[in-house]
Amino acid sequence: MISLTDNITSVPQIGKKRAELYNKLGVYTVGDLLTFFPRDHTDMTEITSVADAPYDEPCTVQVTVTGKMAAQRIRSGLILYKAVAEDESDNMSIVFYNNRFAFDALEEGGTYRLYGKMSGNMVRREMNSPLVVTDGMPLIRPKYHLTEGLTAPMVMTNISYLLKCFNERIDDPMPDMVRSRFELTTEEYALKNIHFPESMHALEISRRRLSFDELVINQAAMRLLKGANSVTTGCVMKEVPIEDYEAALPFELTAAQKRACADIFADMKKDTPMNRLVQGDVGSGKTAVAAAACYMAYKNGYQSALMAPTEILAVQHCETLKKFLSPLGIEVGLLTGSMTQKQKNEIKSKLMSGELMVVTGTHALISDSTEFLSLGLIITDEQHRFGVEQRKLLAGKGMHPHKLVMSATPIPRTLALIMYGDLDISVINELPKGRQKIETYAVTGKLRDRALGFVKRELDSGHQAYIVCPMIDDDPESEIQNVESYMERLKESVLGGYPTGLLHGRLPAAEKDQIMTEFKNGELKILVSTTVIEVGVDVPNATVIMIESSERFGLAQLHQLRGRVGRGQDRSYCILLTDNATDEVRSRLRIMADTSDGFAIAEEDLKMRGAGEFFGVRQSGFAPFKIADLSDRELLSETSSAVTMIMEKCPDLSEFPLLRERAQALIDRNGAEGMN
Ligand code: ADP
Ligand code: MG
Repeated sequence: MISLTDNITSVPQIGKKRAELYNKLGVYTVGDLLTFFPRDHTDMTEITSVADAPYDEPCTVQVTVTGKMAAQRIRSGLILYKAVAEDESDNMSIVFYNNRFAFDALEEGGTYRLYGKMSGNMVRREMNSPLVVTDGMPLIRPKYHLTEGLTAPMVMTNISYLLKCFNERIDDPMPDMVRSRFELTTEEYALKNIHFPESMHALEISRRRLSFDELVINQAAMRLLKGANSVTTGCVMKEVPIEDYEAALPFELTAAQKRACADIFADMKKDTPMNRLVQGDVGSGKTAVAAAACYMAYKNGYQSALMAPTEILAVQHCETLKKFLSPLGIEVGLLTGSMTQKQKNEIKSKLMSGELMVVTGTHALISDSTEFLSLGLIITDEQHRFGVEQRKLLAGKGMHPHKLVMSATPIPRTLALIMYGDLDISVINELPKGRQKIETYAVTGKLRDRALGFVKRELDSGHQAYIVCPMIDDDPESEIQNVESYMERLKESVLGGYPTGLLHGRLPAAEKDQIMTEFKNGELKILVSTTVIEVGVDVPNATVIMIESSERFGLAQLHQLRGRVGRGQDRSYCILLTDNATDEVRSRLRIMADTSDGFAIAEEDLKMRGAGEFFGVRQSGFAPFKIADLSDRELLSETSSAVTMIMEKCPDLSEFPLLRERAQALIDRNGAEGMN
């Protein structure tokens, strides 16, 4: 008997070749195929009269064929088949090109339901290559993500077969108490009706049920992970007065920073490892908080390691940490790939002997042969939360250090719970006093010359500028062409004479670092780039950022980009250019001009664009979700209560083996990526 974990090749009609096509779409097992949810449905249940049928928008008509013309060869290789038909309201033509099969299926005098787009003129309306509904064909048809060689009918056939096989064989993973409390339909019904809905209502409740499952299983997995994290750390620390740390700082910590520090200190006193995310807008002072954690570890005799995704960021973090920790007499070391072997060995031996207590570096820091005398704290970037492999490595060395993740991506709370359910969260929702607002202007392309003139003035007063042009499509070749031709045009403009660097995603890491370093040193005055600068680089002398085609970015992403400026003493500016100023674009860009609170912007972004787009720009714990719509607040809050209800009843899920199995499968599948 076929089972969910079987390879799809055990489905009739799926041979090696078709299986490869499915694999391309991420479908490997029978279970994957059963949950290969349609991206949309074609609803042919509602009939429009021919007279009322809108132009250029698909609709369904029901007509009787009144005549069929002879086939016409209109061009070599193109044969036109035409029939006339009518309903009570009007008549119309039905046209097929080269599709004799579809044409022959229409009989004169027969009545058919057709789905397609109406076109034509005042004299006669015409439907081009409509879908003809035949007996037994579902009136709500699934649309799938397809790939060349794999057609919708193939997918439909394969899935119908599976639905028949599994009829009455699917044990519902959702506990009864949850199903009745939240009025959920059965999983079996939902699976059938997500593919082949009996009605639009059936589709609705099925989508709700499957989204519910997805969110509950996701959160259950996160909580299981959190539970698994409760090993003994061996790095139990004693409280350290935060005042001692603060006294050495050139400023006072904000209330939000103090709260985050207090959360962290409380965690580090426990006998299980900390697993905490510190979320805060760019410039909110996360590094100062991270340094406090290092201080606490230091005072307790433990080493700290701060890991950055790139070499340049590692260097930058090292400088920042030094600023906070040197006055306290704590040395901060750096360990990166480009150092000489001798330099590396020196740092490594100091880490092994415990002479060096705080180190920053790239991921090689823990992945290779580095030995620590007493590693008690690891700090990482959100983008590079480390995975199961690194965790195993540490466990293998007998270490269960405290872990702190820093994130500059403000995320609405409801979503943070979903994305970071395995972490405890501290939010720094306050900027240090006296921060100036970055003046933000949204302008159309007509004002580009003035915008360039403005940038020039900033350059002439000794400052530096960023110019961002977005990736136009996913093709890296055309991305490069696009930025390069932009560079050419820039050379012709008033900015032509300034040393300009170009960054794009395809540059080798070393070259990127080189260009960034030159920009940081002020040798380059302008940095043109695709969004690769998004990752937190700090150049306080850059006071203006101009973003081309800004409508292509999400608000949260624009906010991140804007955070590249305003990092020094000088007044800073963000210019959002768009050549596509629709009302929607205007209102989105206006939000940017009016708001500087990253969390508020993220909320708006999520509201306006939906979660798919919101997540399009960044990776998250277990995302992407197959079906759940993360902008559905009600669903998010319902599923959180459901998970709480389940976990309260049985924290390790042993009473709900089916649910546990699914959660575990999710962990196994995603474990290597993106979890802390
Ligand atoms: P983030 O990592 O959140 O972007 P940083 O920790 O790098 O922010 O801090 C940004 C800048 O603000 C640094 O120059 C830092 O010295 C300064 N800073 C941090 N906290 C405060 C504070 N409470 N008051 C004034 N300046 C601060
Ligand atoms: Mg920072």
